[in-house]
Amino acid sequence: MATGLGQEAPESTRLDVLVAGAGYVGLATAVSLKQARPSLRIAVVDAAPAGVWQKDGRASAIAAAACRMLDQLGIWAEIAPQAQAITQMIITDSRTADPVRPIFLTFDGEVAPGEPFAHMVANRDLNGALRHQAERLGIDLIEGVAVQSFDTSTTGLTVHLADGATLSARLLVAADGVNSRLRDMAGIKTVRWEYGQSGIVCTVAHERPHNGRAEEHFLPAGPFATLPLKPDKDGTNRSSIVWVERTEDANKLVEGDDLVFEVELEQRFGLKLGEIRAMDKPRAWPLGLTLARAFVAPRLALAGDAAHGIHPIAGQGLNLGFKDVAALAEVIVEADRLGQDIGALDVLGRYQQWRRFDTMQMGVTTDVLNRLFSNDIAPLRAVRDIGLGLVERMPRLKDFFIRQASGLANGTPRLLKGEAI
Ligand SMILES: Cc1cc2nc3c(=O)[nH]c(=O)nc-3n(C[C@H](O)[C@H](O)[C@H](O)COP(=O)(O)OP(=O)(O)OC[C@H]3O[C@@H](n4cnc5c(N)ncnc54)[C@H](O)[C@@H]3O)c2cc1C
Repeated sequence: MATGLGQEAPESTRLDVLVAGAGYVGLATAVSLKQARPSLRIAVVDAAPAGVWQKDGRASAIAAAACRMLDQLGIWAEIAPQAQAITQMIITDSRTADPVRPIFLTFDGEVAPGEPFAHMVANRDLNGALRHQAERLGIDLIEGVAVQSFDTSTTGLTVHLADGATLSARLLVAADGVNSRLRDMAGIKTVRWEYGQSGIVCTVAHERPHNGRAEEHFLPAGPFATLPLKPDKDGTNRSSIVWVERTEDANKLVEGDDLVFEVELEQRFGLKLGEIRAMDKPRAWPLGLTLARAFVAPRLALAGDAAHGIHPIAGQGLNLGFKDVAALAEVIVEADRLGQDIGALDVLGRYQQWRRFDTMQMGVTTDVLNRLFSNDIAPLRAVRDIGLGLVERMPRLKDFFIRQASGLANGTPRLLKGEAI
């Protein structure tokens, strides 16, 4: 079995924790556990061939709390030089053809002096930094092999990989994404529906600097967000866009003529930052809501998109996943220190109890926001615009929203406060 660290793992390896999925959530889970408990034997297995992660051209908004966690894990220093602070966020509600988009809501400021409420980070940089730290800590990374099945006993589980190898572990963490096969294998059901919308993602070059400003325009087909990126090596000013359209229209836009795409893009992006152009091939991601009915089963914990896939309207999907990481790591480390069985259902139950309510709340909030804003029904427009106007005039309510968006609300696990576990 080839490992990503250039080693050969033995045919049957005994582990404490096996993480399925080397996305941000899987890697961050492995790093958090290994950093706090170096004696734990941990491996990460991913179905994707080595190097595929480098092809992800997207960027993500990372909330302040997640930055604190990445700092505590020794990862932020590697990412920080390429990360762009979001210093202001504005929200508008208009139709695509409206000549002027009145600003209904502005958020600016910091959660602490010198600490912006979010940063934009290239997915590639984040994944690369997590991999480097995993390697430094001695975590085995097995790539290009999927988890095929697993058998659970009272003392542990046996995990069968697609290449025929077998691993044994005390705990299996399923961080295998929104279509999690491990969740299905464990018989965990989901609440799931599709929005009939897709999120178009691409990087846009513009003449003038964005000055750290992010914008979200609520348009009838869905939100159009521009998120500031650090200028590239040549000094080109750049932003990342997440542009939600009905799936049929989104597919036509990304598969059709480049000129048509640029014209439609310009109509939404506007020319306030000067001339614009798409810097990479746009891609469309179908959007839905997926909430697992349980986050744990005997010797199994779901984390990240495997537990919840939400609409990107609030840019919180990955941040929600990092909250899972921090809570799961805190529960497991505490249990291990006390000599408890880290895969026991009562231990894992503490993690589920901690994370389920917050997750349901965020899932429902993003769902309601999407239904409320992604339409052109006049009475609904009036209600939501009055609502936005009211929030704008209530600084304490705005501060509350900033704290929520930064991930620093009550009940935050220690890693997200920047504290060691
Ligand atoms: C358009 C769009 C924009 C977004 N923008 C933001 C944003 O700005 N901020 C934010 O916080 N979030 C954002 N998100 C959400 C964010 O991208 C996801 O929440 C995040 O990628 C989930 O990470 P994950 O590690 O849980 O899963 P994934 O990134 O999906 O990783 C799953 C991994 O599991 C592996 N795998 C699959 N099956 C198996 C198997 N059987 N065995 C082993 N390995 C397996 C896969 O190869 C993959 O590497 C956005 C999402 C979309 C669609």
